[in-house]
Amino acid sequence: MNDHRRFGSLDIVRTGELDAHRHFALMGPEPLSDDFDARALHDALKKRSAPIKAMLLNQHIVAGLGNIYVCEALHMAGIAPTTPATRISKPRLEKLVAAIKDVLIAAIAAGGSTLRDFAAPDGELGYFAKDWLVYGREGAACHCGAPVLRRIDSGRSTFYCAKCQK
Ligand SMILES: [Zn+2]
Repeated sequence: MNDHRRFGSLDIVRTGELDAHRHFALMGPEPLSDDFDARALHDALKKRSAPIKAMLLNQHIVAGLGNIYVCEALHMAGIAPTTPATRISKPRLEKLVAAIKDVLIAAIAAGGSTLRDFAAPDGELGYFAKDWLVYGREGAACHCGAPVLRRIDSGRSTFYCAKCQK
């Protein structure tokens, strides 16, 4: 166990009341559940002008998506990480939701039934070792030939391809 975060509270809640509990009521859907689809994402992003990448890392929009998966899914969907969330059309959101599920399913397939015991080179937990399309590949060639770029937003690295992602 190399998780240095501290989890400081424990609430006892009846199972039937779990979804309504204040912690979970504010949480977005699990990304691999049927509740997470383009319509749900579209509704959650309404009136949100923040960049799509920040929105996908927001637990109130979708639960538990980490930085690596968000970088990879945005690349797969061809969406620039800085695009204002409200400006993304429904067909593009559909592509994005499919990409998020694909990257998670691939991660689970490669890493076994749990993602918990894998750590990325930067110490981020929940990831298996994999050749990512953009993550950790600054300066290397994207499959389109353009170099993978990196930017830092609120202390997190974002890897992306300016040619593939608009
Ligand atoms: Zn590219």
